[in-house]
Amino acid sequence: MKASEVAALLDEPACAHNKKEKSGCAKTKPGATAGGCSFDGAQIALLPIADVAHIVHGPIACAGSSWDNRGTRSSGPTLYRIGMTTDLTEQDVIMGRGEKRLFHAIKQAIDDYSPKAVFIYNTCVPALTGDDIDAVCKAAAERWGVPVVPVDSAGFYGTKNLGNRIAGEAMFKHVIGTREPEPVSAATQAKLGAGVKSHDVNLIGEYNIAGEFWYLAPLFDELGLRILCTLSGDTRFHEVQTMHRAEVSMVVCAKALLNVARKLQDNFGVPFFEGSFYGITDTSQAFRDFARLIGDPDLTARTEALIAREEAKIKAALEPWRERLQGKRVLLYTGGVKSWSVVSALQDLGMNVVATGTNKSTEEDKERIREIMGDDVKMITDGSPKALLGVYKEYQADILIAGGRNLYTALKARIPFLDINQEREFGYAGYDGMLELVRQLALTLESPVWNKVRAPAPWAVQKAVGQPLVA
Ligand code: SF4
Repeated sequence: MKASEVAALLDEPACAHNKKEKSGCAKTKPGATAGGCSFDGAQIALLPIADVAHIVHGPIACAGSSWDNRGTRSSGPTLYRIGMTTDLTEQDVIMGRGEKRLFHAIKQAIDDYSPKAVFIYNTCVPALTGDDIDAVCKAAAERWGVPVVPVDSAGFYGTKNLGNRIAGEAMFKHVIGTREPEPVSAATQAKLGAGVKSHDVNLIGEYNIAGEFWYLAPLFDELGLRILCTLSGDTRFHEVQTMHRAEVSMVVCAKALLNVARKLQDNFGVPFFEGSFYGITDTSQAFRDFARLIGDPDLTARTEALIAREEAKIKAALEPWRERLQGKRVLLYTGGVKSWSVVSALQDLGMNVVATGTNKSTEEDKERIREIMGDDVKMITDGSPKALLGVYKEYQADILIAGGRNLYTALKARIPFLDINQEREFGYAGYDGMLELVRQLALTLESPVWNKVRAPAPWAVQKAVGQPLVA
């Protein structure tokens, strides 16, 4: 990738981070990033496309532990779970065999798995040795008649966020706009009812973590909002190809693929909005935003009816749990937009968020957090174990809600912990996801293990009262 192409991706006009001179989300000083590299970011964004063979062109270490390394779920093909790599060795580099190995890897993937497409992720080593992955992909696609898409995402280009954008750019350059969507089927129209118009929409940056989008999919069907593509949870290659025909895109929660939404707007006139499916308030707002941008009065009326019904249903279901969680103090440490959307979800439950992480948040995100939590809110930028535990103690929190990397910090400190990031086992999106969130919060907070592990060990008690340690 040319330096000018990287610079163009860093300068995303729709991203609020770019307004800040020094700390753009995809810019960083070498060594300053704590997250993954660009390759990691690109793969994370595209790996959930389920019927594609994802081949990592590089040494084995780039693709290590790659079986099912994304917590996303598919309702059909599971090809995305298989980690594929060209496994470049020193010998391959010395002998200049990188391109040849890549060509054969593509052939093997097509022969063995008949994928709908093959994605090639470039990594540092072949980028440094100058493998022409564009040319190899083109030759392979012509030879075997299967789309082969280069994703030039060498780790040294920059951060994980830049990798997300590189992934979006690759989709825009090679995939989106290469197919027309199927007409709405007679069966779908019959289900919707005569005279009810179906509308096509995109969800961008929704990854179906732990299958959580399936809580919402039936509501989209009921409203006649046909999801042309979810980039990229539980998606298929042909769906990505048709994204340009949507009437509206929603950028879900994280801004990872904002460049795709902005380019769909600029090039195909598809408007977009940013929203979240975490919490009752935000889920309802997302449906309202779809109706507002589509501008169909019948859809607006049906959306309001659906919201009223679902809110009443979930509020009744949450009532027995509310008492158990009311007033519990939460230390939330998660990045970016997720901070405010999760704060809002927890407040819907009557919980008290005492502090929240903001080191990946934009000024807009912080403003939103202040709106929700008041001006005195404690915003944490230092996510080290020591700092997190210090804030936990100072603000007398009852639970730490954070990403999986903080799990052992919490367990070693013997404090309740709930995973909110992609490694989690449970889906929290939509109305029904709130019920799951409540259940997991209550189970975590009320687990009998906390009293046990905080009490002195039996042998310490015996020693203190002078009893022999062995009976
Ligand atoms: S920084 Fe380079 S070598 Fe390391 S994982 Fe990323 S692509 Fe691979």
